[in-house]
Amino acid sequence: MTLVIVDISGYTQFIRSHEMSAIHAEEIIFDLLETVIDCADYPLTLNKLEGDAAFLYAEMGDGTDAEVARDVACQAQGFFNAFYARAQALSRERADCDCNACQRILDLKLKAVLHSGEAVFKTIRQFEELAGEDVILVHQLLKNSIPSDEYILATEAFYALVGRLPEMTYSARVEQIGYFGAVTTHVFTPHADPV
Ligand SMILES: [Zn+2]
Repeated sequence: MTLVIVDISGYTQFIRSHEMSAIHAEEIIFDLLETVIDCADYPLTLNKLEGDAAFLYAEMGDGTDAEVARDVACQAQGFFNAFYARAQALSRERADCDCNACQRILDLKLKAVLHSGEAVFKTIRQFEELAGEDVILVHQLLKNSIPSDEYILATEAFYALVGRLPEMTYSARVEQIGYFGAVTTHVFTPHADPV
C-alpha cells in the first residue's frame, strides 16, 4: 500500500488555550482538512482523521505499484494548491472575527508524508484500522528534524517508485526514528527555499 499522512500545523498553544479562538481553530482546521480530503481520488482513500491530520492509503499490487505511487504523488502536490486556496478564502470569510485563530489562518501550513509498504486491516467494531510497522513508521516520520512546516516527505521506498517530484525543491535527509533507526528521507518543498 501507499500510506499518506497530511498534517496541518501553525496554531500555537496560545491560540488553542483561549476559548473563542480554540473553537474557531478547530472549525478552521476541520474545514481545511476536509478541503484536502475532498481532493483525494481513488485509489487514494481516507482511513481516518487524527486531530490536525488525516491518514489515507492506496492499495497497490499486480505490478501497479509505480503507477499508484505516481498518482498519489501527483495528488499530494495538488493538496497544497487546494489547501492554500481554501486558506485564502477562509481568511477573507473570517476577516471580521478578531480572534487569533481567524486572524492567523494564513500562518497555517500543510505537510505530507508519503510511504509505501505493508499494512493490514484490523476491524475494531465497525472501524477498519490500518496496522503494521509501516503504519507506525509513517506516523513517526511526522516528528522529524526538517526546519519547515511545509513539505512533502517521501520515504526511500516511495521515492524508489516515483523519483523527483516536478516543480519542487528537493533535498535528501536522514532522520533518527526510534525503533527504526536511521531512515533516509526525500524532502520536497513547494517553494524555492530548500530545507
Ligand atoms: Zn475567530
